[in-house]
Amino acid sequence: MTADLFITSSNIHSSSFYRTVENMFLQAWQDTRKNRPHVHAVWYINAGSQLLGRPRFSDYLNYKAQIQRQLGRNKVEEELYRGVRRACNIGDDGHHLNLCNLAECDLCRILECRYRLRNSNGTANFGTGIYTSAHSSKADDYAINAHNQSRFHVVLLSHVVTGNTYSYQSPHPQITGPPNGYQSVGAIPKRQGGTLIHPETIVYRTDAAIPSVMVVYTR
Ligand SMILES: [Zn+2]
Repeated sequence: MTADLFITSSNIHSSSFYRTVENMFLQAWQDTRKNRPHVHAVWYINAGSQLLGRPRFSDYLNYKAQIQRQLGRNKVEEELYRGVRRACNIGDDGHHLNLCNLAECDLCRILECRYRLRNSNGTANFGTGIYTSAHSSKADDYAINAHNQSRFHVVLLSHVVTGNTYSYQSPHPQITGPPNGYQSVGAIPKRQGGTLIHPETIVYRTDAAIPSVMVVYTR
């Protein structure tokens, strides 16, 4: 399995793509209690790559088109952050972009397949889903290194079909999806009158979100 199946070698710090992603990531770092991060690398995840003979992102694109038709508008998608557990050192440098085989490496399992619905062993605020945030600093809470000694962490900038978002003021851990007529669930942050400190956006289908860019950073 070669690395370029999944990640292009576009980690060129002077490129406009790199600088755009870096600026977005830093501007989305909204938690003032955390130190400002340093972006180490930005890897674009190749949308054209194939997995086991299947177009890697066709399910996502099909679902996006379906929601565009259903809602009668083009804008149904947002770019949001998701922190992931990483057990290997993929992304730390330009020579290490091969996926590992470790079961506990959520990053490589996501890159080789897709996001899975998770609920943090039943403790998630809005049931079993794919949790993302407009704040990179919130996604950072979940960017955990398991077993490796790396000083780097990974957050995935992701495309998410949010469609119509139903916003809750407080956690509803028992829900299994958005209400009828909605495609995603959002948490209203405290400064806008909610009870949670940071914004969250949750979708409940594995074809409703794809990782687009791997941001490698130090805290
Ligand atoms: Zn890995």
